[in-house]
Amino acid sequence: MSNNLDANSMSQSELTETPLNHATQLLNKVFGFAQFRESQQAIIENVLGQKNTLAIMPTGGGKSLCYQIPALVFDGLSVCISPLISLMQDQVRQLVELDIPACMLNSTLSTDEYQANVQAISQGDIKLLFLAPETALQMSVLNLLQAANVNCLAIDEAHCISEWGHEFRPEYRQLGQLIERIPQAVIIALTATATPRVREDIKRQLAIANESEFIASFDRPNLFIEVNLKDNPYGQSKAFIDNHKGQSGIIYCLSRASVDELTAKLQADGYSALPYHAGLQSKKRAEYQDKFVRDDVDIIVATIAFGMGINKPDVRYVIHYDLPKNIEGYYQQIGRAGRDGLDADCLLLFSYGDTGKSRYFIDQMVNEQEKRLASMHLNQMLALAETEDCRRIPLLSYFGEPHVPQSCVKCDNCLNENQEKSDLTVPAQKFLSCVHRTGQRFGAGYVVDVLRGSNAEKVLQNQHNLLSTYNIGNEFSKKQWMTLSRQLIQKGLLQQDEQFGGLKLTAKAGDVLKGSAPFYALLQQQSTAASKSSHSPATIDFNSDLFAILKTQRKHLADQAGVPPYAIFPDKSLQEMAHYLPQSSMSLLKIHGVGQAKFTKYGEQFIKMIADFCVLNSLAEVTNNASGASTSTKTSTIALSAKSKEIASLFDQGYSVLALAQQNKVKHNTVYGHLHKFASLGYKFEHPERLIEAMNLAPELLNKGLTTFAELGTERLKPVFDALNEQVSYEQLHLLRVFYLQGLSA
Ligand code: ADP
Ligand code: ZN
Repeated sequence: MSNNLDANSMSQSELTETPLNHATQLLNKVFGFAQFRESQQAIIENVLGQKNTLAIMPTGGGKSLCYQIPALVFDGLSVCISPLISLMQDQVRQLVELDIPACMLNSTLSTDEYQANVQAISQGDIKLLFLAPETALQMSVLNLLQAANVNCLAIDEAHCISEWGHEFRPEYRQLGQLIERIPQAVIIALTATATPRVREDIKRQLAIANESEFIASFDRPNLFIEVNLKDNPYGQSKAFIDNHKGQSGIIYCLSRASVDELTAKLQADGYSALPYHAGLQSKKRAEYQDKFVRDDVDIIVATIAFGMGINKPDVRYVIHYDLPKNIEGYYQQIGRAGRDGLDADCLLLFSYGDTGKSRYFIDQMVNEQEKRLASMHLNQMLALAETEDCRRIPLLSYFGEPHVPQSCVKCDNCLNENQEKSDLTVPAQKFLSCVHRTGQRFGAGYVVDVLRGSNAEKVLQNQHNLLSTYNIGNEFSKKQWMTLSRQLIQKGLLQQDEQFGGLKLTAKAGDVLKGSAPFYALLQQQSTAASKSSHSPATIDFNSDLFAILKTQRKHLADQAGVPPYAIFPDKSLQEMAHYLPQSSMSLLKIHGVGQAKFTKYGEQFIKMIADFCVLNSLAEVTNNASGASTSTKTSTIALSAKSKEIASLFDQGYSVLALAQQNKVKHNTVYGHLHKFASLGYKFEHPERLIEAMNLAPELLNKGLTTFAELGTERLKPVFDALNEQVSYEQLHLLRVFYLQGLSA
């Protein structure tokens, strides 16, 4: 058995011609992608089965394909409603590059262009039509669509339909008028943000059954998340940017003034940077955004006003120069990095000074409700900044995701193994006991006042100066106690009342209070400079000289065609070319993102450039027999850290996972993470049989497991765990995945 079993290989589609096979063929041939991402396949199948569908996926999750592929499978027209003209333009540009007949109708077109598009639609020459909701509701457009053969209606940014959403658009609400005219069309609603209430609203209004709601994981495994204490923000940012030379990045600041100031500094230091904020003229804004999209400038320094209207897939980093207001915004902003699935880095600069400022502003708020909400948001951000566990835990649990990865290897904490936590059992007991004695009604600030023997009027009025926990906490500063309290909340020992902020003990607190469980935490956030050094800057597994040559040619072609470079080829395509050095049509077609249209347009010249380069440098083509899942792992841009190498080598020599975890003072999952990284980057164990021994699985299960990885991919363990009916433990699956990635048969 080989691990090259690829559920999506074209040969499979020759077996039976089902709509799904057809879809997969289109994915390969038109888009040049090897396989569907998790949930894309289920969503597309549902739409092809004529069922109205709701697709919830994070930014960069791959929503567009979910309606673009059905649009190609159906024989008539598909309509996509989208709220922003810039996004529509971008989509149309990319589709036209793929030779897919797509167009839009809106006020930016000249009368002639508009008429030409109307005619093409009436003649059935268009597969995908993009419309703003207000255009879709115009009588002439309604009539046009009623007469056309509309198979599918895609509603992008579908949360705009709900009054409960944060971007309610009344015209979205009126789309019923359009739906009445095209009752035969299957509907697919797509969004990246939707609370349960908004989801219910979307489903009710668009007649979507519960079974047709698909929620993809919000985890974006290619984003490296890092938080650094902000002591020298400009220097820290420069160092970070220097590690990403020539790549596209966004720096978010809270105020327009700081955007201008930072841009000027960067420019003076020779960086390619432009500002973006609502205070700039809209013409300037559009110009700067366009320069960024076209790779004419590397860095955009921006307020949160930037990002909504852009779809640039190759943003390689996002820096938060200031603390974002809430997790949702933070996640949306970092989500703009690495949409192409390649590695991207996210750095949050965090200072207690900023937190103090935010607290001050919150205190000034008059509306009690708003004040509580802002304070809750700030606390959630702090939980993310201060946690010493995986950063993905506070992030993903914010989105209600139950299956938080145990160790992601893609955040500073998971990578920074050697942080020594201190035993804080006694201070934790003091704090919990004080919460208890003050009646579980007060917020952290008040509890700390009591612990530190404050003479505040409120404390004296409540006679809390008489409690046994009064004035027993002078060993810590107020700030340290506040940090401890957040960690107690974070670890589920305390619960915070969302409305009033009061703290309550949970059952878990009982164990610590009774002394039957210890409490370990980090009180003093270490400077994360240490974690930076352990996160090696992206070193590259492809020929960077050739990559640079291909990039220059791409930019040249893009400027000629008036499209952004990514519309010609995404970075991943060029990286794969610079890795496999394809010099024949066959091998070029195996490259990610090379479908038939791109091949016809650009294939010959790219093959020639690669061949010339190979002759000049005496290089030979690298066999690319891995179609599908393994292609992506071959071209990962993150180098193997010394730690991963060391752990893998010790494992190879016979150390157990348990022993390695204890030796390195890390969790088992961290060890598995290192082994996984080692294997996924194509490194080989000398003694792979060690993996089999450690797994201790019956041969049938082992084989079944390998086939399941071949079918479902190796990105997540949960689907494989489920598919194997929970017969193989996660520990075993971790090892099995590593074994699978070694490309060995059992
Ligand atoms: P979203 O709209 O959800 O933010 P997009 O549809 O823009 O995401 O997709 C993000 C990126 O991922 C795009 O560059 C797209 O080409 C790429 N992509 C989507 N699906 C796949 C796939 N199955 N294989 C490879 N790349 C994909
Ligand atoms: Zn992590």
